[in-house]
Amino acid sequence: MLALGIEGTAHTVGVGIVDETCRVLANVYDMVRPEKGGIHPREAANHHADAVVPLIRKAADVAGVDLGDLDLVAFSQGPGLGPCLRTVATAARALAVALDRPIVGVNHCVAHLEIGRGVTAAKDPVLLYVSGGNTQVIAFARGRYRVFGETLDIGIGNMLDKFARECGLPFPGGPILEKLARDGRTLLPLPYSVKGMDVAFSGMLTAALALRREGKSMEDLAFSIQEVAFAMLTEVTERAMAHLDNDEVLLGGGVACNRRLQGMVDRMAADRGARMFVPPGDLCIDNGAMIAWTGLLMHRGGVRMNLSETVVDQRYRTDEVAAIWRA
Ligand code: AMP
Ligand code: MG
Repeated sequence: MLALGIEGTAHTVGVGIVDETCRVLANVYDMVRPEKGGIHPREAANHHADAVVPLIRKAADVAGVDLGDLDLVAFSQGPGLGPCLRTVATAARALAVALDRPIVGVNHCVAHLEIGRGVTAAKDPVLLYVSGGNTQVIAFARGRYRVFGETLDIGIGNMLDKFARECGLPFPGGPILEKLARDGRTLLPLPYSVKGMDVAFSGMLTAALALRREGKSMEDLAFSIQEVAFAMLTEVTERAMAHLDNDEVLLGGGVACNRRLQGMVDRMAADRGARMFVPPGDLCIDNGAMIAWTGLLMHRGGVRMNLSETVVDQRYRTDEVAAIWRA
């Protein structure tokens, strides 16, 4: 069975093709890189509209398949930016109708977890999902993927990107800050905001920008932001693992590419006799392969959608999905 998945919740539009063993045959993408300011939803959607058809063709080329060989079309149904979601949903519907194949709408956050289970040895992990717009600790419990903790304001990646942008660095700022942080020496005081199982980052952003105006070095600031923010994330992830008596932790989302975050979570896992899993970077960031794979799992598990059920949901919650394919 071959599934094609289209991702398009935010800055990235991606198309992936996977088979029933989670072999990734193609995973191509294109990202909006605004010259200044943040991501404008309509501009991103226009970008996705221009890019999606060439990406579908490219994915088929890379995979060495004809579109007619596909058995299923999946797409990111939410959560995300409305105009972007609607653009890729329209593309997915058109493709499914043209090929006369079933269509499945996929929850983006669940897809980050499923691709991790598909390509690593993790079986039933706690997912620390750290991306631009989302920051959640997710695990499967009683028929659903449930959110055990999350950001109360902005996503961790958004915080890193905004800090970088205000300091004159290009998008995406996260990887640049990671490099700068390697030369940081002094841990500057930043708010450590963990509230129960939740985290908050906007106070840290404000405090870091104030320290920058006082002339603190970018290296020390990047280092301090990483140390404090990643410690917060590691703390709530550990608590979820303890609560669930779970000895697997999976990283997902673009910020999961960060070596310092990986190091902290790995150390926490080792200290409790658990294991950490990190998918390859191109499956951590937003990507079409994870949508294709989750769509395939859903279809195989009996999920069927007619076109009227493919309406997008900007606030699609992780725990709204009845994960019947996990039964
Ligand atoms: P996503 O939203 O999952 O596609 O991931 C994009 C986010 O990941 C952006 O906010 C990036 O700044 C962030 N990111 C990517 N690589 C790194 C890295 N090495 N360290 C920190 N953040 C990163
Ligand atoms: Mg994502």
